[in-house]
Amino acid sequence: MEHIVKTENLVFEYRVAIEGDESAIETKAALNGVDITVSKGEFVAVLGHNGSGKSTLAKHINCLLSPTSGGMWVKGISVTDDEQLWDIRSSVGMVFQNPDNQIIATIVEEDVAFGPENLGVMPAEIRQRVDDALLSVGMEKYAENPPHHLSGGQKQRVAIAGILAMRPDIIVLDEPTAMLDPIGRREVMRVVKKLNSEGITIIFITHYMDEAAQADRIIVMEEGKVVMEGTPAMVFEQIEPLKAIGLDVPQVAEIADGLRRAGVALPQGILSVEHLVEEICRLK
Ligand code: ADP
Ligand code: MG
Repeated sequence: MEHIVKTENLVFEYRVAIEGDESAIETKAALNGVDITVSKGEFVAVLGHNGSGKSTLAKHINCLLSPTSGGMWVKGISVTDDEQLWDIRSSVGMVFQNPDNQIIATIVEEDVAFGPENLGVMPAEIRQRVDDALLSVGMEKYAENPPHHLSGGQKQRVAIAGILAMRPDIIVLDEPTAMLDPIGRREVMRVVKKLNSEGITIIFITHYMDEAAQADRIIVMEEGKVVMEGTPAMVFEQIEPLKAIGLDVPQVAEIADGLRRAGVALPQGILSVEHLVEEICRLK
């Protein structure tokens, strides 16, 4: 399958001043040789505990950061090709954790219009894009409302609409549900899956295992490296290795594992309550 994001031995070092010594600079590797390939149209979840390099990787995808060494290509374009940075930036939308930091306008539809305005899109086309984007995230009824009355999940959907209005090929979401309640998380997840089904490539950083379980593929990071990679069923079978790096598995996978250990003949790869129920019913 055609790849849309690819890295080869990607290294990124932050330069940090050493406290108490103005002239001394220390380098600290946040990415330490990352090799990933994301296919066009794929939904990839990225897991890893705090400080493992997830956000640093995300910021490379739309060229907010540029590699210290190694290679990185987005849509086949090298991120070191300065002349095509604009092309990459306008194809990659970023959604961050805190919806309040991403919404700037005082009216929802004006906020969604910011992105295409900055891209120089014609006003009539902007109108169409804003309407389409709000409809796509189910926020069309709130077009003329001020955003500050919205719930966290609604604000995050407006932020996603703002990205959509720029017509990106790839959306990178960096813990977009971390500050949301369960309802808001579900709303955002539903929108993300819908956009993916419409062909947008999704890179979804999360620390919620049940969200990662819904991706096509999971990439697990630890200390600036990819340490595990595969389908959710494959990755969440690795209960002990995941626990060793401070990660969990979805609760239902752990229950299935406990039952298996107790001698119940369940297959591997159970990641949803529905699937578990189905398999248990089949046992009788
Ligand atoms: P994650 O998103 O997985 O929590 P990050 O990519 O934010 O991880 O951070 C990876 C490493 O880089 C951490 O050790 C972190 O302390 C360091 N780091 C992140 N941002 C900066 C920065 N602006 N300056 C210096 N070090 C940073
Ligand atoms: Mg982060």
